[in-house]
Amino acid sequence: MTQSHNHKMPALFLGHGSPMNAIEENEFTKSWELLGKSIPQPKAILSISAHWETTGSRVTAMESPRTIHDFGNFPKALFDIQYPAKGDPALAARIQSIVKESGVTLDHQWGLDHGSWGVLIKMYPDAHIPVLQLSLDKGLKPKDHYALGRELKPLRNDGILILGSGNIVHNLGQIASDPKVEPADWAVEFDESIKQFLIKGNHPGILNFESLGESARLSAPTPEHLLPLIYIIALQDKEERVTFPIERIVLKSISMRAVMIS
Ligand code: ZN
Repeated sequence: MTQSHNHKMPALFLGHGSPMNAIEENEFTKSWELLGKSIPQPKAILSISAHWETTGSRVTAMESPRTIHDFGNFPKALFDIQYPAKGDPALAARIQSIVKESGVTLDHQWGLDHGSWGVLIKMYPDAHIPVLQLSLDKGLKPKDHYALGRELKPLRNDGILILGSGNIVHNLGQIASDPKVEPADWAVEFDESIKQFLIKGNHPGILNFESLGESARLSAPTPEHLLPLIYIIALQDKEERVTFPIERIVLKSISMRAVMIS
């Protein structure tokens, strides 16, 4: 693992998929592991998870965030998982000071939900890197999330990994139980449209995803799993490139696509 000190950290979006990935080994978890070993080691991680929606933006500011098991109907082994990463109250205060437009409140209630620990347990199994979460403010439009994301840019130069955790296509109502079922046409279409916008650096195209019509309506019936991606594209500098460490749609309606900006 390389040391971070003078590195500009990549910005990373991971499609987290099923909570079971946290206790399974598969092509996705292997990629997450590899990412943890191949990018510079961060000093801290700021995670924007689909699973924390609030009124007003909040950032976790406790010394020791709890592991939140925010799901039902999964095996006990998943509920037994603890991810004992420390918090970083000083970094939380800094984030509060740099987010000027919409403001952010220091939070002492939340912790780490499975959108964060479900992938970090593979990237950094030792939980030795402090982790903060930033919530999704339900009152913001995509362009407001983008503006907030831009304000976080300086953190990348200080060894902070900003991680968005969601899924570009996420429709649980349409999910297939049989893993052999092919991806839905609308899922492929939406995932590909977003990919092309990313390759071309067409951020307005992503912010206006609803104008993609039927494929958007079915792929992002609610926006929370897509919004973490908006924070990640907001961090992109002009000369930076986008790569896709993972590209796959599973169970008909879940895109596991990972997006790295570096
Ligand atoms: Zn999720």
